[in-house]
Amino acid sequence: MTTRPHSAGRYAPSPSGRLHIGNLRTALIAYGLAVRSGRRFVMRVEDIDRVKEGAAADQLADLAALGITWQHPELYQSTRAEAHQQALAELTRRSLTYECYCSRKDILAAPTAPHTPPGSYPGTCRDISETERERARERLAAAGRSPSIRLRADTRSFTVTEQIVGVSPIAPEDATTSYTGVVDDFVLRRGDGVLAYNLVAVLDDAYQGVDQVCRGDDLFASAPRQAYLAAILGVTEPVYAHVPLVVNEEGARLAKRDGSVTLPQLIEAGWTTGDVIEWCATSLALPRVRTAEDFVAECSLSALRAACGPHVFAPPTP
Ligand code: GLU
Repeated sequence: MTTRPHSAGRYAPSPSGRLHIGNLRTALIAYGLAVRSGRRFVMRVEDIDRVKEGAAADQLADLAALGITWQHPELYQSTRAEAHQQALAELTRRSLTYECYCSRKDILAAPTAPHTPPGSYPGTCRDISETERERARERLAAAGRSPSIRLRADTRSFTVTEQIVGVSPIAPEDATTSYTGVVDDFVLRRGDGVLAYNLVAVLDDAYQGVDQVCRGDDLFASAPRQAYLAAILGVTEPVYAHVPLVVNEEGARLAKRDGSVTLPQLIEAGWTTGDVIEWCATSLALPRVRTAEDFVAECSLSALRAACGPHVFAPPTP
C-alpha cells in the first residue's frame, strides 16, 4: 500500500447533537477511504456554530466505540479563531471581499441576472458606491443588524475532482471524474459575525493536511466553492468523495424523530456495535462485516461507486 504521510482524510462533525447511524456510516467510509489510500485520518470538531454542551465528547466516544481511530489530538475548530480571522483579513487586503447588506428575503426577491443559477447570490452589493454602502450600513444598524462579508469571486464556476459520484464501478480504483459547479460570491462572515462554514472548513482542511474530503452528498454543491477558495488561498485542493445520505422510510434525511437512530439508542434496542457496522456495510452492498477493521478492508471506491441510490434505515423498535 502506498503511504502518504503528508495527506489526510477526515471526518468533521458539527457537535449539535448525537450522531445517527447515517453519520456513523459516513465516518466509517471516510475512515476506510483514508486508511486504504495510505492517508492519515484526522478528526475535526466543527464547534463554531450550533454547539450543544457535551455533544462533541459523545460524538467522539461513539466513533471510538465503533473502532474508528484518528490522529490525536482532534482539532476543535474554535481554537483556530485567530488564524481564521487573519485569513479573512488577508483576503480583504487582496480586495477579494466586500460587505453585503442583503437579507435572505432581499436575495430571493432580487431580479436574477440571465446567467445566475437559482439560489446563488446575484451580486447586489458587489459594485455599489461608498455612499450607498454608508446608507445601507445605517439602515442595517437601525434594524440591529450587521453586514455580512462575501467573497469577490472572479469566476462563475469551478471544476473539482470527485472519486465516487459519477465514476463507474468498473473504472480503475484511482479513477476520478470532474464536476463543474457554481461559484458565486458566497458568504465568508455571516451578519452575526460568525465566520462561514465554507471559509473555515477550507482553512482547517489545509491546516490538517486534508487532501481527501469524504462526506455526505448533501454537501456536493459546496465542493466547487470550497475548492475555488482553496485555489485562491494557495492551499491544496482536495479530491472529494461524496457518499449517499441515509434516509428514513419516507425518503427524508434521517433525524432524531425517526426513533432509535443513535448508537446509545440502538444499543438500548438490543443492537451491538457489530450490528451497527454490519448494517452500514450491507446498506452499501458490502459483505457482512462487523468490525471497523473489516469494514476498511471492504470499502473500496469501486464498491462504494456501485452502491448508489437511496439508503433507507428502518429503526428497530425497542
Ligand atoms: N460539519 C459538517 C456536518 O456535520 C460537515 C462538513 C464537511 O464535512 O465538510 O454536516
